[in-house]
Amino acid sequence: MDIEQARAHAERLRHEIAHHAWRYYTLDSPEISDAAYDALVEELQAIEAEYPELITPDSPTQRVGAAPSAQFASVVHAQKMYSLENAMDMDELNAWLERTEREIGGRGSGYVCELKIDGSSIALTYEDGVLVRAATRGDGVTGEDVTANVRTIKSVPLRLLEKPPSPGQGALLEDANAKPWRVDVRGEVFMPKASFERLNEEQEKAGLPRFANPRNAAAGSVRQKDPAVTASRDLDTFMYQVVEPRALGLGSQHEALQWLGRAGFKVNPDIEVCATTQEVRAFCERALTRRDSLAYEIDGVVVKVDSFALQDELGFTSKAPRWAIAYKFPPEERTTRLLDIQVSVGRTGAMTPYAIFEPVRVAGSTISRATLHNADEIARKGILIGDTIIVRKAGDVIPEVVGPVVRLRDGSERPFVMPSTCPACGAPAWRPEGEAVTRCTNAACPAQRLERLLHWASREAMDIDGMGEEIVSRLIERGLLRDVSDYYTLTKSGLASLEMGRTRKDGSPVLLGETMAAKLMASIEASRDRPLSRLLFGLGIRHVGATVAQALARAYGSLDAIMAAPTESLSRVEGVGLVIAASVRAFFDNPENIALVQRLKDAGLRTEEEQDVEAPPQSLAGLTFVLTGALEHYTREEASEALRRLGAKVTNSVSRTTSFVIVGADPGSKRERALELGVPVLTEEDLIRILQTGEAPAA
Ligand code: NAD
Repeated sequence: MDIEQARAHAERLRHEIAHHAWRYYTLDSPEISDAAYDALVEELQAIEAEYPELITPDSPTQRVGAAPSAQFASVVHAQKMYSLENAMDMDELNAWLERTEREIGGRGSGYVCELKIDGSSIALTYEDGVLVRAATRGDGVTGEDVTANVRTIKSVPLRLLEKPPSPGQGALLEDANAKPWRVDVRGEVFMPKASFERLNEEQEKAGLPRFANPRNAAAGSVRQKDPAVTASRDLDTFMYQVVEPRALGLGSQHEALQWLGRAGFKVNPDIEVCATTQEVRAFCERALTRRDSLAYEIDGVVVKVDSFALQDELGFTSKAPRWAIAYKFPPEERTTRLLDIQVSVGRTGAMTPYAIFEPVRVAGSTISRATLHNADEIARKGILIGDTIIVRKAGDVIPEVVGPVVRLRDGSERPFVMPSTCPACGAPAWRPEGEAVTRCTNAACPAQRLERLLHWASREAMDIDGMGEEIVSRLIERGLLRDVSDYYTLTKSGLASLEMGRTRKDGSPVLLGETMAAKLMASIEASRDRPLSRLLFGLGIRHVGATVAQALARAYGSLDAIMAAPTESLSRVEGVGLVIAASVRAFFDNPENIALVQRLKDAGLRTEEEQDVEAPPQSLAGLTFVLTGALEHYTREEASEALRRLGAKVTNSVSRTTSFVIVGADPGSKRERALELGVPVLTEEDLIRILQTGEAPAA
């Protein structure tokens, strides 16, 4: 980017950021997630770091919060209310710790680690021990007077229980004898998660808009015209700062926190004094794992130099103290540039567009592509090639494009056009009337063949461990794999001598080798005995997913019976219906497929359902489960399989028809969604109990 491009882009970013800051701070009603907002700010910061001459005084990077609203009387803060510098990952935290250690130069008093409460900051003033004023942060210099509202919050003491160690010498007192002593304290007002859920339910019932998150609900509740509304909102507080502490006889942050507790304030219990930077990092890592189990939202950890003398030495920047940093949890959403949209061809010939974007780290790993599903989806999201896009990990694993940041366009973006021919084989592409998917019309298309072969070997199908894309591609090239029955004609020596398309230093080709060949032969061997449902799924019949394959295998017991069944009969199987039945019928009416099945039988594959001597009772029939997060005792497949054996349905997304959501460690948005919809959330222990007793709790 040259400076002119940078200037234009920075200008667009400032507009966009200003718009979202207004929605967030003034209206308490954000349109985008915090992570997406932070990503925009970071992008602007990067430009400003490269071209400092582009920094303007009104740049959002130079400001704290937003100006106070005219709706409230304004309050000038006794001392500016700062924001915090952010560390977006461990590397940035380490850099800050190293810099701070260097500046302190061995006089380290340690650090205090506090949870970063995701609420709204509040400043409280006490005179002679009595609460006289409460103010919001506003733009840091001037806030809003919300005293009447804050008085209604039960955890805010109206009178202090204990004086600070030396109130008489308070620096804010001009004359200790004539004027009352005064203390300013600061902290966070927040709304517990459960209260937030309740509030949103009530809002919905009353036909009012929902709050985006507990932080905005808290900020909105504090900024009410009518204190009675604030009183009804179940707000809570954690206080974490004393203004001018040294003048009040407090020497360190941990002493200040202790005094706040004795004076009657609510202080967060999860606070740790860390002697070393190692302990600081460990605290941050632990906080991330405990995040979901807390009753309130946190979005990181605030690390503060403990000694106030050292804090004073380190001082402030225009925006934030140098003696503290906010370590932010890995974001679930980022922005990046959409470089191109390409098309891949699946095993059924479906041409699927996917986004290629500049690599970004999202929720702990780097991603650079995401499926866009089909042309309609791209149009619906309004995505253009060249756009700045917001990306996230759906369900914590699958990368997803949320949408474009339209205001950042510069006119060079162009729309995506679905190609009229298959990108793999050049055959004409066809989009049947009324369908969203465009397909390659060539059944012998090499891309389709590769996908079909990989699908057969995949974990949910025949699970041929080690048979990945690279090896399968080579086997196709060598003419050793044409269809899935060819897996069972491969030999160990043939595999061992497979050239991998790379050469050694001496010019000789890299071969797959004996060890790998032996492993693959064992995996192929093991796959001969997979249950019928897996084989049926592995065949890749259109519309036949793992669940339908299981239903068919259970209903008919053998491949021969399924192959002989008329459409009508097939369609009566639970979860099958006419469309799927017709697709199954069409597949087995095709002579090529009949010949393929014969070759599989000849290779000794199991085509009959094992006689289940003790078929478990279908006690969970009619119930739908969703699993999210990592389980300790099962893989997700194992747990799903065990539930299905008891007759339950296991699906991927939470809806109103979901009966239970089972939550493991680090669950994603599915848990939130369940809470939103009022779907009961169960733990792994509950799951174990269900599997042992075969009984689900009453919903
Ligand atoms: P910040 O939230 O990153 O950090 C500063 C604040 O942390 C302090 O003011 C204080 O209120 C709070 N805090 C919580 N616990 C604390 C503790 N133990 N010690 C000290 N402080 C503690 O900065 P910010 O300036 O308030 O706002 C930026 C935040 O607002 C970002 O997370 C950003 O994503 C979000 N935001 C979002 C949008 C949007 O559209 N979604 C718009 C603007 C801002």
